Amino acid sequence: MIYLKTDDEIEKLRKANLLVSATLAEIAKIVQPGVTTRELDTLAEQFIRDHGATPTFKGYPNPYGEAFPASICTSVNEVVVHGIPNDTPLQDGDIVSVDCGTLLDGYCGDSCYTFCVGEVKPEVQRLLATTKESLFKAIDQCLVGRRLGDIGYAVQSHCETAGYGVVREFVGHGIGREMHEEPQVPNYGQRGTGKQLKNGLCIAIEPMITLGTRELYMLPDHWGVITQDRRPAAHFEHTIAIHHGKADVLSSFDPIESILNQSH
Ligand code: MG
Ligand code: MG
Repeated sequence: MIYLKTDDEIEKLRKANLLVSATLAEIAKIVQPGVTTRELDTLAEQFIRDHGATPTFKGYPNPYGEAFPASICTSVNEVVVHGIPNDTPLQDGDIVSVDCGTLLDGYCGDSCYTFCVGEVKPEVQRLLATTKESLFKAIDQCLVGRRLGDIGYAVQSHCETAGYGVVREFVGHGIGREMHEEPQVPNYGQRGTGKQLKNGLCIAIEPMITLGTRELYMLPDHWGVITQDRRPAAHFEHTIAIHHGKADVLSSFDPIESILNQSH
């Protein structure tokens, strides 16, 4: 069942998502060599709670019935998604995808940004740039009358043309009162196929793109997912509403990137 949202609900989703963006901007201030992902998690949880929201990831169950132990996912280098924050200091040249979710006033926010730690190799910087571009190409397809396959095709064609792998096992999703609602939003697909986009549809679009193979392994912690060839992966995510016929991006990278641009 797909729940189309009213204007009121879209505004609540916007507030929850802008809180995610503000949280990721706080993280942008301290991401550097020597910082641990647990420190990022502590900062994020405090910031989210100080703003009257709860971190939706904390306690979220996996298929084994185990609760996610942290407030953000921190996926370093070959970790594609769902990395558990830990005490290993980030190193110069790492990348870290920080995925964050909030529940504010009954509605969910969900967005992810992949950060560079210190000086990152040009080939990895290109992976990040292409992944983010593919997200915006997908958002450009978010027009009433287009289909989910148009979104998937936009991501897949952009990233595969660049020679990258497009992860199939994890997908974007509807979002509202629940973090994960119908429909699924794959990062691959054929133009003109799948469900039609309608006003009020709210979805998270989240390309997960690999430098090498798209084949994955699950880590023994039952959460983290890594590339089989251990080459890096990038992940960018926005929550959007189809609103007045086109995409209304409810999360924002602007607060994050204004911090990143200051420090460079
Ligand atoms: Mg997310
Ligand atoms: Mg998501």
